[in-house]
Amino acid sequence: MKLKNVFYLPSGRIFLFDLDGYLIESTEMRDVSIDGKEHFEVRNSLDPHIIWKHLKPYERKWLLTVSTQKGCPHNCHFCDVANLKFKGNLSQEEIENQIRNILNYTPYVNNSNKVKIGFARMGEPAHNLINVMKAIENLPKISEELNRNFKWLPCFNSILPQKTMQNISGLEVIDKVMDIKNNKFNGNLHFQISCNSTDEQQRKELFGGAIVLSLKNIIDYINKKKNIGRTVTLNFIVMKGIEVSVNKLLKFGLNKNNFVVKLIPLNNTINASDNKLKTYANYSNYEDLKKLGNKFEKNGIPVVIDAIAKCEEAGLCCGQLAQIYQ
Ligand code: SF4
Repeated sequence: MKLKNVFYLPSGRIFLFDLDGYLIESTEMRDVSIDGKEHFEVRNSLDPHIIWKHLKPYERKWLLTVSTQKGCPHNCHFCDVANLKFKGNLSQEEIENQIRNILNYTPYVNNSNKVKIGFARMGEPAHNLINVMKAIENLPKISEELNRNFKWLPCFNSILPQKTMQNISGLEVIDKVMDIKNNKFNGNLHFQISCNSTDEQQRKELFGGAIVLSLKNIIDYINKKKNIGRTVTLNFIVMKGIEVSVNKLLKFGLNKNNFVVKLIPLNNTINASDNKLKTYANYSNYEDLKKLGNKFEKNGIPVVIDAIAKCEEAGLCCGQLAQIYQ
């Protein structure tokens, strides 16, 4: 795996690695710590200095993402990885080498209380479950090998296909992720499920026709499982004309003991624009996003509202750089 190029954001870097002629992306970012009025300032500004002023120290939190596939077999209408040619799964070693490379290119980060690593840059990790899970289990070994004192927070983010490329059912994927979460990481694994709409037909269209587990099935199944530590996150990229019904989710069994809901503005991707998707809320009407969040909170459901800063967004969403360089 050769380093092809590095791109700098105000909060971190995107690496392009060449893997036998195919370009894959990995990232390292610092978190932006913001509150109250400053949140508005950071969100709306195009000035990187504003972000630099609010970066959290690596020791408190460091955010990494690695790719799990060469491209992705799906064609989600909001994601630019979908525009790349799909060339199959990465091996366990190829996933782990991205992590080793990021660590080696960042020799000044030796300690951190939270290194959150998303197996979610390019690829749907459920299709490469065995290699991804082995890489997750190996995280403590990798940091030890490179003399880093890290507390890892692995993050498994999936659309949960009903059947994976390796013929594993979506429910078995949940079983495996929850098993590693409860038994290997003492509950300290972040399981994020891409939902995006509460209407199953809309979900199917947004996922480019992918056959995924229904929300009712997911909520019901997780409610029956043992869940230590962190709750499971249901992600909604909020888009105009796309249903997010709190009542429906409550009827399906959504509850605060097992779930948190994350509301995310739609990124400026080429695919989203080609598919005429528009964000429900972003910088100018962030309050609308908060109002939607309040509807969940009124029913006792915890909500995280994720709004990426304006100056972080320019052309650097998942798959965009690989697309340009490919
Ligand atoms: S959102 Fe995930 S599953 Fe969908 S195309 Fe992008 S990488 Fe693949």
